[in-house]
Amino acid sequence: MNSPPHSETSKSRLTRVQVDLNAVAHNAACLRTVLRGNHPPRIWATVKGDAYGHGIANVIAGLAQVDGLAVSNDAERQACRRAGWRGPILMLNGLASIDDVQPLHDPELHLVIHHPSQLSWLRTHSPDHPPSVWLRYVGDLNYTGMNTCTYRQAYEIAEAMRRAGQIRMVGHFNHYAQSDSVDGIRRASQQFMKTIRGLSGPVSTSNSAALLLHQEHSATNDWVRPGLMLYGASPLAHRAGPQLGLRPALLLQSELISIQTLPGNTSLGYGGAFVTPRAMPIGIVACGYVHGYPRQAGTGTPVLVNGIRTTLCGHVCMDLMAVDLTPIPHAEPGMPVTLWGTAELPAEEIARHAGTIAAALFTGLSANLPIHVIPIAT
Ligand SMILES: *Cc1c(COP(=O)(O)O)cnc(C)c1O
Repeated sequence: MNSPPHSETSKSRLTRVQVDLNAVAHNAACLRTVLRGNHPPRIWATVKGDAYGHGIANVIAGLAQVDGLAVSNDAERQACRRAGWRGPILMLNGLASIDDVQPLHDPELHLVIHHPSQLSWLRTHSPDHPPSVWLRYVGDLNYTGMNTCTYRQAYEIAEAMRRAGQIRMVGHFNHYAQSDSVDGIRRASQQFMKTIRGLSGPVSTSNSAALLLHQEHSATNDWVRPGLMLYGASPLAHRAGPQLGLRPALLLQSELISIQTLPGNTSLGYGGAFVTPRAMPIGIVACGYVHGYPRQAGTGTPVLVNGIRTTLCGHVCMDLMAVDLTPIPHAEPGMPVTLWGTAELPAEEIARHAGTIAAALFTGLSANLPIHVIPIAT
Protein backbone atom coordinates (compact mmCIF):
# COMPACT_ATOMS: atom_id res chain seq x y z
CA MET A 1 0.00 0.00 0.00
CA ASN A 2 2.60 2.53 -1.07
CA SER A 3 1.14 5.98 -1.54
CA PRO A 4 2.11 7.72 -4.76
CA PRO A 5 2.31 11.46 -4.04
CA HIS A 6 -0.24 12.71 -6.55
CA SER A 7 -2.92 15.35 -6.04
CA GLU A 8 -5.77 13.07 -5.05
CA THR A 9 -3.59 11.66 -2.30
CA SER A 10 -2.83 15.04 -0.85
CA LYS A 11 -6.56 15.80 -0.72
CA SER A 12 -7.24 12.62 1.17
CA ARG A 13 -4.52 13.05 3.77
CA LEU A 14 -7.05 13.57 6.54
CA THR A 15 -7.82 9.89 6.21
CA ARG A 16 -4.80 7.75 6.91
CA VAL A 17 -3.63 4.32 7.97
CA GLN A 18 -1.21 3.35 10.68
CA VAL A 19 0.41 -0.09 10.71
CA ASP A 20 2.01 -1.10 13.99
CA LEU A 21 4.72 -3.73 13.57
CA ASN A 22 4.81 -4.27 17.33
CA ALA A 23 1.25 -5.60 17.02
CA VAL A 24 2.28 -7.95 14.18
CA ALA A 25 5.23 -9.22 16.24
CA HIS A 26 2.99 -9.61 19.30
CA ASN A 27 0.47 -11.67 17.31
CA ALA A 28 3.23 -13.89 15.92
CA ALA A 29 4.51 -14.39 19.48
CA CYS A 30 0.96 -15.31 20.63
CA LEU A 31 0.90 -17.95 17.94
CA ARG A 32 4.25 -19.33 19.11
CA THR A 33 2.72 -19.73 22.59
CA VAL A 34 -0.26 -21.63 21.16
CA LEU A 35 2.10 -23.94 19.25
CA ARG A 36 4.64 -24.62 21.96
CA GLY A 37 5.53 -28.28 22.41
CA ASN A 38 8.33 -30.67 21.63
CA HIS A 39 8.13 -30.28 17.88
CA PRO A 40 6.22 -27.07 17.25
CA PRO A 41 5.15 -26.58 13.63
CA ARG A 42 6.98 -24.04 11.56
CA ILE A 43 5.06 -20.94 10.52
CA TRP A 44 4.23 -19.68 7.05
CA ALA A 45 3.01 -16.12 7.61
CA THR A 46 0.36 -15.57 4.95
CA VAL A 47 1.01 -12.22 3.23
CA LYS A 48 -1.21 -12.62 0.17
CA GLY A 49 -3.39 -9.65 -0.79
CA ASP A 50 -0.36 -7.39 -0.16
CA ALA A 51 -0.27 -8.61 3.45
CA TYR A 52 -4.05 -8.33 3.84
CA GLY A 53 -3.86 -4.69 2.79
CA HIS A 54 -1.11 -3.84 5.31
CA GLY A 55 1.58 -3.76 2.59
CA ILE A 56 4.16 -6.54 2.17
CA ALA A 57 7.02 -4.03 2.30
CA ASN A 58 5.58 -2.60 5.54
CA VAL A 59 5.01 -5.76 7.54
CA ILE A 60 8.11 -7.85 6.85
CA ALA A 61 10.09 -6.21 9.65
CA GLY A 62 7.37 -7.38 12.06
CA LEU A 63 7.67 -11.00 10.94
CA ALA A 64 11.18 -11.81 12.15
CA GLN A 65 9.80 -14.68 14.26
CA VAL A 66 8.17 -16.67 11.44
CA ASP A 67 9.86 -19.28 9.25
CA GLY A 68 8.45 -18.51 5.81
CA LEU A 69 6.03 -16.30 3.89
CA ALA A 70 3.01 -17.50 1.92
CA VAL A 71 2.08 -15.35 -1.10
CA SER A 72 -0.45 -15.64 -3.92
CA ASN A 73 1.75 -15.17 -6.94
CA ASP A 74 5.17 -14.34 -8.30
CA ALA A 75 4.65 -10.55 -8.11
CA GLU A 76 4.14 -10.90 -4.36
CA ARG A 77 7.13 -13.24 -4.10
CA GLN A 78 9.24 -10.53 -5.72
CA ALA A 79 7.84 -7.93 -3.31
CA CYS A 80 8.98 -10.11 -0.39
CA ARG A 81 12.49 -10.42 -1.83
CA ARG A 82 12.68 -6.66 -2.52
CA ALA A 83 11.67 -6.08 1.09
CA GLY A 84 14.68 -8.16 2.15
CA TRP A 85 13.05 -11.49 3.04
CA ARG A 86 15.63 -14.26 2.57
CA GLY A 87 13.75 -17.29 3.94
CA PRO A 88 11.42 -19.71 2.17
CA ILE A 89 8.43 -18.42 0.19
CA LEU A 90 5.36 -20.50 -0.54
CA MET A 91 3.42 -19.57 -3.68
CA LEU A 92 -0.17 -20.53 -2.99
CA ASN A 93 -1.51 -19.94 -6.50
CA GLY A 94 1.72 -20.46 -8.44
CA LEU A 95 2.02 -21.61 -12.07
CA ALA A 96 -0.98 -20.49 -14.10
CA SER A 97 0.69 -21.85 -17.26
CA ILE A 98 3.89 -23.47 -18.50
CA ASP A 99 5.23 -19.95 -19.18
CA ASP A 100 5.38 -19.37 -15.43
CA VAL A 101 8.05 -22.07 -14.97
CA GLN A 102 11.05 -20.59 -16.75
CA PRO A 103 11.24 -17.34 -14.71
CA LEU A 104 11.49 -19.33 -11.45
CA HIS A 105 14.92 -18.54 -10.05
CA ASP A 106 14.41 -18.78 -6.34
CA PRO A 107 16.39 -21.32 -4.33
CA GLU A 108 13.92 -21.05 -1.44
CA LEU A 109 10.76 -21.50 -3.46
CA HIS A 110 7.85 -23.70 -2.42
CA LEU A 111 5.01 -24.22 -4.91
CA VAL A 112 1.50 -25.42 -4.20
CA ILE A 113 0.50 -27.93 -6.90
CA HIS A 114 -3.21 -27.75 -7.73
CA HIS A 115 -3.20 -30.00 -10.76
CA PRO A 116 -0.92 -32.77 -12.10
CA SER A 117 -0.25 -30.77 -15.28
CA GLN A 118 1.71 -28.30 -13.13
CA LEU A 119 4.09 -31.16 -12.36
CA SER A 120 4.54 -31.92 -16.06
CA TRP A 121 5.33 -28.24 -16.70
CA LEU A 122 8.06 -28.49 -14.06
CA ARG A 123 9.37 -31.64 -15.71
CA THR A 124 9.46 -30.03 -19.16
CA HIS A 125 11.27 -26.87 -18.02
CA SER A 126 13.42 -27.90 -15.08
CA PRO A 127 14.08 -24.64 -13.18
CA ASP A 128 17.71 -23.93 -12.13
CA HIS A 129 16.76 -24.46 -8.52
CA PRO A 130 14.43 -27.41 -8.03
CA PRO A 131 11.44 -26.10 -6.04
CA SER A 132 9.79 -27.79 -3.11
CA VAL A 133 6.20 -28.70 -3.91
CA TRP A 134 3.11 -29.10 -1.78
CA LEU A 135 0.36 -31.27 -3.24
CA ARG A 136 -2.98 -29.66 -2.61
CA TYR A 137 -5.84 -31.89 -1.60
CA VAL A 138 -9.21 -30.61 -2.80
CA GLY A 139 -10.62 -30.99 0.71
CA ASP A 140 -14.07 -29.73 1.61
CA LEU A 141 -13.38 -26.38 -0.06
CA ASN A 142 -13.57 -28.07 -3.48
CA TYR A 143 -11.98 -25.14 -5.32
CA THR A 144 -8.65 -26.52 -6.51
CA GLY A 145 -6.47 -29.53 -5.83
CA MET A 146 -6.33 -33.26 -6.36
CA ASN A 147 -9.18 -35.44 -5.14
CA THR A 148 -9.02 -38.76 -3.35
CA CYS A 149 -8.62 -40.62 -6.67
CA THR A 150 -5.92 -38.44 -8.25
CA TYR A 151 -3.90 -37.43 -5.18
CA ARG A 152 -1.78 -40.55 -4.79
CA GLN A 153 -1.06 -40.67 -8.51
CA ALA A 154 0.21 -37.08 -8.35
CA TYR A 155 2.30 -38.04 -5.35
CA GLU A 156 3.96 -40.90 -7.26
CA ILE A 157 4.84 -38.51 -10.11
CA ALA A 158 6.19 -35.87 -7.70
CA GLU A 159 8.20 -38.47 -5.78
CA ALA A 160 9.78 -39.75 -9.00
CA MET A 161 10.69 -36.17 -9.89
CA ARG A 162 12.16 -35.69 -6.44
CA ARG A 163 14.33 -38.78 -6.84
CA ALA A 164 15.42 -37.43 -10.24
CA GLY A 165 16.46 -34.14 -8.61
CA GLN A 166 13.75 -32.04 -10.29
CA ILE A 167 11.91 -31.38 -7.04
CA ARG A 168 13.46 -30.74 -3.66
CA MET A 169 10.69 -31.91 -1.36
CA VAL A 170 7.10 -33.17 -1.59
CA GLY A 171 4.61 -32.02 1.06
CA HIS A 172 0.89 -32.47 1.71
CA PHE A 173 -1.41 -29.47 1.75
CA ASN A 174 -5.03 -29.02 2.75
CA HIS A 175 -7.18 -25.98 3.50
CA TYR A 176 -10.42 -26.31 5.46
CA ALA A 177 -13.71 -24.75 4.43
CA GLN A 178 -15.15 -24.66 7.96
CA SER A 179 -12.30 -24.43 10.43
CA ASP A 180 -14.14 -21.55 12.13
CA SER A 181 -16.69 -23.93 13.62
CA VAL A 182 -16.08 -26.30 16.52
CA ASP A 183 -17.06 -29.38 14.53
CA GLY A 184 -15.89 -28.02 11.20
CA ILE A 185 -12.71 -29.98 10.43
CA ARG A 186 -13.50 -33.44 11.75
CA ARG A 187 -14.65 -35.09 8.53
CA ALA A 188 -12.41 -33.06 6.25
CA SER A 189 -9.28 -33.86 8.24
CA GLN A 190 -10.17 -37.57 8.42
CA GLN A 191 -10.53 -37.71 4.64
CA PHE A 192 -7.25 -35.90 4.12
CA MET A 193 -5.37 -38.11 6.59
CA LYS A 194 -6.80 -41.18 4.89
CA THR A 195 -5.68 -39.89 1.50
CA ILE A 196 -2.08 -39.27 2.59
CA ARG A 197 -1.77 -42.33 4.84
CA GLY A 198 1.63 -43.96 4.46
CA LEU A 199 3.02 -41.18 2.22
CA SER A 200 6.15 -39.43 3.40
CA GLY A 201 6.61 -35.67 3.52
CA PRO A 202 5.56 -32.74 5.72
CA VAL A 203 1.91 -31.76 6.25
CA SER A 204 0.32 -28.29 6.30
CA THR A 205 -3.37 -27.65 6.97
CA SER A 206 -4.05 -24.93 9.50
CA ASN A 207 -5.08 -21.32 8.87
CA SER A 208 -5.90 -18.83 11.65
CA ALA A 209 -9.29 -20.31 12.51
CA ALA A 210 -7.87 -23.84 12.71
CA LEU A 211 -5.03 -22.57 14.89
CA LEU A 212 -7.40 -20.78 17.25
CA LEU A 213 -10.13 -23.41 17.41
CA HIS A 214 -8.40 -26.72 16.64
CA GLN A 215 -5.09 -26.47 18.45
CA GLU A 216 -4.52 -30.18 18.94
CA HIS A 217 -4.96 -30.82 15.25
CA SER A 218 -2.80 -27.83 14.33
CA ALA A 219 0.02 -29.08 16.57
CA THR A 220 0.31 -32.15 14.32
CA ASN A 221 1.14 -29.89 11.33
CA ASP A 222 4.75 -29.55 10.19
CA TRP A 223 3.95 -26.08 8.87
CA VAL A 224 0.95 -23.90 9.74
CA ARG A 225 -0.38 -21.01 7.65
CA PRO A 226 -1.83 -18.15 9.74
CA GLY A 227 -2.98 -15.03 7.95
CA LEU A 228 -5.68 -12.90 9.52
CA MET A 229 -4.63 -13.48 13.14
CA LEU A 230 -1.14 -12.09 12.50
CA TYR A 231 -2.82 -8.78 11.70
CA GLY A 232 -4.73 -8.96 14.98
CA ALA A 233 -8.16 -9.83 13.63
CA SER A 234 -10.26 -12.85 14.48
CA PRO A 235 -11.86 -15.24 11.99
CA LEU A 236 -14.29 -16.46 14.67
CA ALA A 237 -17.82 -15.09 14.93
CA HIS A 238 -18.61 -13.35 18.23
CA ARG A 239 -14.95 -13.11 19.29
CA ALA A 240 -12.85 -10.21 18.06
CA GLY A 241 -9.04 -10.29 17.99
CA PRO A 242 -8.50 -8.37 21.25
CA GLN A 243 -10.71 -10.89 23.09
CA LEU A 244 -8.31 -13.60 21.92
CA GLY A 245 -5.26 -11.68 23.11
CA LEU A 246 -4.41 -10.34 19.65
CA ARG A 247 -3.53 -6.73 18.86
CA PRO A 248 -5.02 -5.02 15.77
CA ALA A 249 -2.13 -3.95 13.54
CA LEU A 250 -4.01 -1.58 11.25
CA LEU A 251 -5.61 1.65 12.44
CA LEU A 252 -7.86 3.65 10.08
CA GLN A 253 -8.16 7.25 11.17
CA SER A 254 -9.64 10.48 9.92
CA GLU A 255 -10.81 13.84 11.28
CA LEU A 256 -13.94 15.81 11.97
CA ILE A 257 -14.20 18.56 9.37
CA SER A 258 -17.54 20.16 10.23
CA ILE A 259 -20.24 20.27 12.88
CA GLN A 260 -23.96 20.93 12.37
CA THR A 261 -26.57 21.32 15.06
CA LEU A 262 -29.81 20.06 13.55
CA PRO A 263 -33.32 20.45 14.94
CA GLY A 264 -35.44 17.36 15.46
CA ASN A 265 -37.22 15.65 12.54
CA THR A 266 -34.65 16.91 10.00
CA SER A 267 -33.29 14.77 7.20
CA LEU A 268 -29.56 14.32 6.84
CA GLY A 269 -27.57 13.16 3.83
CA TYR A 270 -28.47 11.51 0.52
CA GLY A 271 -31.91 10.05 0.27
CA GLY A 272 -32.77 11.46 3.67
CA ALA A 273 -31.61 8.11 5.00
CA PHE A 274 -31.35 9.55 8.50
CA VAL A 275 -33.94 11.78 10.17
CA THR A 276 -32.96 13.34 13.50
CA PRO A 277 -35.15 11.89 16.28
CA ARG A 278 -34.52 15.12 18.28
CA ALA A 279 -32.31 18.18 18.08
CA MET A 280 -28.76 16.83 17.85
CA PRO A 281 -25.20 17.78 16.98
CA ILE A 282 -23.89 16.03 13.87
CA GLY A 283 -20.21 15.72 12.93
CA ILE A 284 -18.94 15.32 9.38
CA VAL A 285 -15.92 13.02 9.02
CA ALA A 286 -13.54 13.14 6.04
CA CYS A 287 -13.79 9.42 5.26
CA GLY A 288 -16.00 7.53 2.85
CA TYR A 289 -16.12 4.60 0.49
CA VAL A 290 -13.45 6.11 -1.78
CA HIS A 291 -11.02 5.40 1.05
CA GLY A 292 -12.29 1.86 1.43
CA TYR A 293 -14.74 2.35 4.27
CA PRO A 294 -17.67 0.01 3.49
CA ARG A 295 -20.74 1.80 2.16
CA GLN A 296 -22.88 -1.05 3.53
CA ALA A 297 -22.17 0.20 7.07
CA GLY A 298 -25.12 2.40 7.95
CA THR A 299 -26.78 4.13 10.87
CA GLY A 300 -25.64 2.66 14.17
CA THR A 301 -22.17 1.54 13.05
CA PRO A 302 -19.73 2.48 15.84
CA VAL A 303 -16.96 5.06 15.47
CA LEU A 304 -14.66 6.80 17.98
CA VAL A 305 -14.56 10.60 18.00
CA ASN A 306 -11.68 11.84 20.12
CA GLY A 307 -11.67 8.36 21.65
CA ILE A 308 -15.37 8.49 22.59
CA ARG A 309 -17.68 5.91 21.11
CA THR A 310 -20.59 7.08 19.00
CA THR A 311 -22.36 5.98 15.79
CA LEU A 312 -22.80 6.72 12.10
CA CYS A 313 -25.97 8.49 10.91
CA GLY A 314 -27.28 7.62 7.44
CA HIS A 315 -25.37 6.41 4.41
CA VAL A 316 -21.60 6.55 3.98
CA CYS A 317 -20.83 8.97 1.11
CA MET A 318 -17.94 8.84 -1.34
CA ASP A 319 -15.57 10.83 0.86
CA LEU A 320 -17.65 11.81 3.90
CA MET A 321 -19.80 10.33 6.60
CA ALA A 322 -21.98 11.81 9.36
CA VAL A 323 -21.77 10.85 13.04
CA ASP A 324 -23.83 11.60 16.13
CA LEU A 325 -21.90 14.03 18.36
CA THR A 326 -24.31 13.82 21.31
CA PRO A 327 -21.75 11.95 23.48
CA ILE A 328 -19.01 14.48 22.57
CA PRO A 329 -20.42 17.89 23.60
CA HIS A 330 -17.07 19.67 23.17
CA ALA A 331 -16.37 18.31 19.71
CA GLU A 332 -14.45 20.59 17.35
CA PRO A 333 -13.36 20.33 13.74
CA GLY A 334 -9.92 18.73 13.59
CA MET A 335 -10.67 16.18 16.29
CA PRO A 336 -9.36 12.68 15.50
CA VAL A 337 -11.82 10.02 14.41
CA THR A 338 -11.01 6.32 14.59
CA LEU A 339 -12.87 4.24 12.03
CA TRP A 340 -11.42 0.92 13.20
CA GLY A 341 -8.31 -0.76 14.55
CA THR A 342 -8.12 -0.32 18.33
CA ALA A 343 -8.90 -2.83 21.07
CA GLU A 344 -12.14 -0.84 21.72
CA LEU A 345 -13.12 -0.77 18.06
CA PRO A 346 -11.72 -3.74 16.14
CA ALA A 347 -12.34 -4.01 12.39
CA GLU A 348 -14.42 -7.14 13.02
CA GLU A 349 -17.11 -4.95 14.57
CA ILE A 350 -17.32 -2.69 11.51
CA ALA A 351 -17.29 -5.77 9.28
CA ARG A 352 -20.27 -7.20 11.14
CA HIS A 353 -22.24 -3.97 10.66
CA ALA A 354 -21.36 -3.98 6.95
CA GLY A 355 -22.15 -7.67 6.40
CA THR A 356 -18.56 -8.48 5.49
CA ILE A 357 -15.33 -9.72 7.12
CA ALA A 358 -12.25 -7.92 8.43
CA ALA A 359 -9.99 -9.30 5.68
CA ALA A 360 -12.27 -7.74 3.05
CA LEU A 361 -12.13 -4.37 4.83
CA PHE A 362 -8.32 -4.47 5.01
CA THR A 363 -7.81 -5.46 1.38
CA GLY A 364 -10.46 -2.96 0.24
CA LEU A 365 -8.59 0.07 1.56
CA SER A 366 -7.58 2.59 -1.07
CA ALA A 367 -3.97 2.32 -2.21
CA ASN A 368 -3.81 6.14 -2.07
CA LEU A 369 -4.10 6.41 1.70
CA PRO A 370 -1.05 7.81 3.48
CA ILE A 371 0.41 5.08 5.62
CA HIS A 372 2.51 5.46 8.72
CA VAL A 373 4.46 2.41 9.89
CA ILE A 374 5.36 2.14 13.57
CA PRO A 375 8.66 0.22 13.71
CA ILE A 376 9.53 -2.46 16.23
CA ALA A 377 10.43 -0.81 19.54
CA THR A 378 13.94 -1.76 20.60
C1 LIG B 1 -5.43 -17.24 2.92
C2 LIG B 1 -4.95 -18.58 3.21
C3 LIG B 1 -4.47 -18.90 4.49
C4 LIG B 1 -4.54 -17.94 5.67
O1 LIG B 1 -5.88 -17.86 6.06
P1 LIG B 1 -6.37 -17.04 7.35
O2 LIG B 1 -7.78 -17.45 7.51
O3 LIG B 1 -6.23 -15.60 7.02
O4 LIG B 1 -5.49 -17.43 8.49
C5 LIG B 1 -3.95 -20.16 4.68
N1 LIG B 1 -3.92 -21.07 3.66
C6 LIG B 1 -4.40 -20.79 2.43
C7 LIG B 1 -4.37 -21.83 1.36
C8 LIG B 1 -4.93 -19.55 2.17
O5 LIG B 1 -5.42 -19.30 0.95
